[in-house]
Amino acid sequence: MNEKLKEILIHELETELGVVKKINVQQIADQIYNIGFQCIMCGKCCRRDFGDNRVAITTTEIHNIENESDLKWEEIAEPFITEAESPEEECKINSADGLIDEDGNIHTFGWMLKRKKNGDCSFIPDDATNNRCGIYKLRPLLCSTYPFYIEGFKLNTSECEGIGKEISHQESCELAELVLKRYILELEDTILTYKNYIGFKTGDNSLNIAESDLKQGYLNYIIHYSEGSCRIRKKI
Ligand code: SF4
Repeated sequence: MNEKLKEILIHELETELGVVKKINVQQIADQIYNIGFQCIMCGKCCRRDFGDNRVAITTTEIHNIENESDLKWEEIAEPFITEAESPEEECKINSADGLIDEDGNIHTFGWMLKRKKNGDCSFIPDDATNNRCGIYKLRPLLCSTYPFYIEGFKLNTSECEGIGKEISHQESCELAELVLKRYILELEDTILTYKNYIGFKTGDNSLNIAESDLKQGYLNYIIHYSEGSCRIRKKI
């Protein structure tokens, strides 16, 4: 991403943020009320077997969990990766997208909640019959607002068996406020990420180097996020 493109993206996101801040929360609440929702504790949004369970988490939310628990950053979050079926595929996708630099580092944007080896969220119990979130009161906004989200100024829903169930007016209002808060927080986080972003060089050998790292049991990630960037060696 060159400087000009960076400027354009930041300008577009700042304009979007200005519009979002004027969205009427009551209108969102009414839509949620009409759609209906009640969590049935199926745990499907937390477990990998049921589809894409990546949970994007902002820097502010990671700090919040750190401050309110004994958990450290690396126990909470990991680089936001693709939904590839294998690390080999992960390398190929990133290479095709020009996201592996000349030293074989895979560049990612932002963080997601850490997942276990089996792909389930780190905070869901191993026992598949128990779907109680281990950080319920501190869980990110993506979790507490699921299956609702705003995109292109419109309320959308993800797949969820709880949709259509009765919800009270008060719960609809609380949920609407959280959905809007999440939208604003994510936009602010992304704007800061772009502002702090520094480009990198790719090379003819980028993919080969990453694949050779993988043979040795790890991949190197450089994460661009709202506080700058950092490098993580992830055991595979
Ligand atoms: S943090 Fe809690 S609610 Fe969110 S995915 Fe993990 S277990 Fe599920």
